[in-house]
Amino acid sequence: MSSTSSASAPNRRSFLARSAAVAAVPAVAALAGGALAEPASAGTLPDYAPIPPSALGPAVNAQGYYVGRVQKNLYWVTDSTYQAAFLTTRDGVVLFDAPPTIGHNLQRAIDEVASANGVPGKVTHIVYSHHHADHLGASSLFGRNVTRIGQADTRRLLAEENDPARPVPDITFDTRYTLRVGGERIDLAWHGTNHTPDNIYIHFPGHDTLMLVDIVLPRWVPYDSFNLNEDVQGSIAAPATAMAYPWKHFIGGHMGRLGTRDDMTVYQRYVDDIIAGVKKALVAVDPAPFFAKYGDNSWAAVQQYQKAQVDYAAAPVIKKYLGVLAAADVYTASTTFVILESIRLDLGIDSQVHS
Ligand SMILES: [Zn+2]
Repeated sequence: MSSTSSASAPNRRSFLARSAAVAAVPAVAALAGGALAEPASAGTLPDYAPIPPSALGPAVNAQGYYVGRVQKNLYWVTDSTYQAAFLTTRDGVVLFDAPPTIGHNLQRAIDEVASANGVPGKVTHIVYSHHHADHLGASSLFGRNVTRIGQADTRRLLAEENDPARPVPDITFDTRYTLRVGGERIDLAWHGTNHTPDNIYIHFPGHDTLMLVDIVLPRWVPYDSFNLNEDVQGSIAAPATAMAYPWKHFIGGHMGRLGTRDDMTVYQRYVDDIIAGVKKALVAVDPAPFFAKYGDNSWAAVQQYQKAQVDYAAAPVIKKYLGVLAAADVYTASTTFVILESIRLDLGIDSQVHS
């Protein structure tokens, strides 16, 4: 929990006395938190670097979606923040995820493609990538007469969550499942926990495509706090598992564009650079001044000490990836904090046994 290693404890104690005087004067102005009470306005909100054009995908239409071909009869739909995919077959459509933000536009996109190609537009199957509501919340729009497929933990988690918008899967599997519909083949696999315990790899061997949601967001840094990944080490390892598959096109579940193998490599370098920076910060940032200032307020000292570690690790990464990965200046720090905690708590680096 606390980052105060035993090695820093003598420093901490020696600074307590001096810091007492500082601690005795509460910062009344800061405690009042005036700025938080004000409504947001463009004048007071922070500015960030422009988004590199390479991070943006095609424009959405008047209804707020874009549908495009991935390869052959595999298509993707986006509202520029979320993505779903669908495969048209002679026997009906297989849908992959149903984000509520795309909602009724899923069927509109399917109908647009199906009518242009003269194939059935009825969704017969929905494959769930993982249990999260932001990727499945439009599942119930497709009614009860659809076969839903998901990993066993997806079923378990959805049964617990009991959300009528996300019916539990009818077909489940533990590690592998091959779905065959209308002459098409889709390989589903669970390779261990990452973003969630149930997140799966969806491989389209006939379409040179892999779908893996909430791990790599092509040309964007991860969402806040490393995509809120439940298993940080599993999520760091996931791109290597993804790269072991043969594919050219990547569907990451987020933002406005598809990904390439190069995009995934850039993402892996970004995470590797954060890890290297964190390991340096654990050695380089001296905890003593923080404990000197905050005395027996251990949380204040830890917060500011870790903030300094995060800044030390993240600053060069932000600089390196601005213009390469969108929003590097927005979320790199929160992701660095999560990776810092995982390096300390999961890997045990920087934990020192009291003598
Ligand atoms: Zn998720």
